[in-house]
Amino acid sequence: MRFDIMTLFPDLVTGILGESIIGRAQKSGAIEVHAHNIRDYSEDKHRRVDDTPYGGGMGMLMAAPPIDNCFRAICAMQPEDVRRRVIYMSPRGSIFNHQKACELAAYDNVVILCGHYEGVDARIIEEIVDEEISIGDFVLTGGELPACIVTDAVARLVDGVLSDTECFEKESIASGLLEYPQYTRPYEFHGKKVPDVLISGHHENIEKWRLEQSVELTKKNRPDLYAVWEAAHPPVEKKKKTRRKGEET
Ligand code: SAM
Repeated sequence: MRFDIMTLFPDLVTGILGESIIGRAQKSGAIEVHAHNIRDYSEDKHRRVDDTPYGGGMGMLMAAPPIDNCFRAICAMQPEDVRRRVIYMSPRGSIFNHQKACELAAYDNVVILCGHYEGVDARIIEEIVDEEISIGDFVLTGGELPACIVTDAVARLVDGVLSDTECFEKESIASGLLEYPQYTRPYEFHGKKVPDVLISGHHENIEKWRLEQSVELTKKNRPDLYAVWEAAHPPVEKKKKTRRKGEET
């Protein structure tokens, strides 16, 4: 899978996505991440990429032509029939979540446009963008961190990015619940010991304990998520004891 990120600050993106698991996944060839400097596609002699908004108002807007040139160049690098989704990171978009990450992971190519300043000319959104995605109800100075978040979340769903031991299906959200508390050595830390069940070696009890902890944590921290999980996992009714003849009620 290939990610193309259109930005005025490519170093921000390559710095974050070049490290750790996503960095290794690029080296192994499981994914490709390309950050494109929109400024390189400006036809202005001073390489300008922004201008004041028509109708007045605060700040500067990223102009459409350099973004359009950049996007055309990205498309020209790949086969015509590539399954592509073009995203504009924006606080106006629908809020990003695991389901959206799964949807995006099904494409061959995700192109992400990062805004800056007051955002981008509306016409470029109309022309090239399939959807606007927000990473939450707050406003950041630029789309680079959101683009890294989306790329990271989608990339870890791609085959070969996580090792077998780093399975995402059992993690918070993807499993439908939040993850149970985990512990590692030392056995005792600041007087707090690891729960007995985890050192019992009894796998069934460990699984039961983990599920109970997950359910309790989800109920407390994410009642919305819990309601969905509960509806899909109605409690199994205990079998009614059949009374034998002569037995008291
Ligand atoms: N004037 C814009 C508005 O009110 O909707 C905000 C522009 S913001 C200062 C600059 C850029 O940061 C945006 O174009 C977008 O790319 C990015 N950005 C800011 N907050 C974001 C969020 N919550 N999710 C995704 N991108 C965001």
